Amino acid sequence: DKMQMASAREEKILVLVRLRPLSDKEILADEVADWECINDTTILYRNTLREGSTFPSAYAFDRVFRGDCSTKQVYEDEAKEIVLSVVSGINSSIFAYGQTSSGKTYTMTGITEYAVKDIFDYIHRHEERAFVLKFSAMEIYNEAIRDLLTTDNTPLRLLDDPEKGVIVEKVTEETLKDWNHLQELLSVCEAQRRIGETLLNEKSSRSHQIIRLVCPLPCSVFLTIESSAREFLGKENSTTLAASVNFIDLAGSERASQSLSTGTRLKEGCHINRSLLTLSTVIRKLRLVKYEDYNNYEFGDIMRSKGRHGHINYRDSKLTRMLQPCLGGNARTAIICTLSPARSHVEQTRNTLLFACCAK
Ligand code: ADP
Ligand code: MG
Repeated sequence: DKMQMASAREEKILVLVRLRPLSDKEILADEVADWECINDTTILYRNTLREGSTFPSAYAFDRVFRGDCSTKQVYEDEAKEIVLSVVSGINSSIFAYGQTSSGKTYTMTGITEYAVKDIFDYIHRHEERAFVLKFSAMEIYNEAIRDLLTTDNTPLRLLDDPEKGVIVEKVTEETLKDWNHLQELLSVCEAQRRIGETLLNEKSSRSHQIIRLVCPLPCSVFLTIESSAREFLGKENSTTLAASVNFIDLAGSERASQSLSTGTRLKEGCHINRSLLTLSTVIRKLRLVKYEDYNNYEFGDIMRSKGRHGHINYRDSKLTRMLQPCLGGNARTAIICTLSPARSHVEQTRNTLLFACCAK
């Protein structure tokens, strides 16, 4: 039906690319910037010394952001709409993917702050609906989930809840009071992450950080939900239904690209990051499902294509299992691929763009 056709379009995973400027340190070291955004959708490799090389020099995405674009602009143009869908009961995820030092944390921190500000604004403009916003923060390192709001190091378990789907057992959820409270919680997370860092070299480049905002849905919202959450409509008495938005600062992509390019089998170990690899696979499969939905909708049989690619392997890693309710289906997803423009990083930059091409 029409509703399904429209949502098939919206379900597309949004793939964004953000190029950072050369850092002062790189400029001092005589680094050269070889990448340039030539318009809003195309990024170009322009190293004339490499003429005759086999890889393509121009790559196109939903949107590319130049080095002089602010995080505010990235947020306003592409992330805001996705993030704010949480108050209508729609789950969403925003990922930052890229090599270490390409700007993932810089980008996600800014976006998280703008998002909280806008959700708070929305809540204040709709006080009659009695919205609240809950904050939790987790880290996944070597397939163990840790709560970043407590000093307790016990790994958190994932459980299948019949009503809510996959939940993180015992994770701390703080009800966000205001802007200052957010800053406080973010600095607790920072401190928790740094404790681990001194014990394990390079930990932050090997772990994923997930900041989750949960918005329990007040009854008035059920009435405004349309196609996105029809299954909620029969459950108006439940007080446990909630939508969440996830901000995911991924492990450095250099951890995955090596094994992706050589076809090494997925295994436990310090060099290969299971969650990062599974995420790549899940996103590739989701894209196939969604692409087919879109192409087949004129035949009026969207569901038929769903089974064709078989099972999506969410359960293969902690990250994808935890995020399953927020990926695919009616959930909204954006991946921001962050790039260094430096000549010395060209191999990793290409790997990131190849991942981005697979996801779009
Ligand atoms: P990552 O999390 O991918 O390892 P960071 O976010 O820590 O990378 O960024 C590395 C450095 O580059 C930081 O000092 C950060 O402030 C800076 N940086 C990253 N992106 C930008 C940008 N778009 N504009 C200006 N500085 C940036
Ligand atoms: Mg970082």
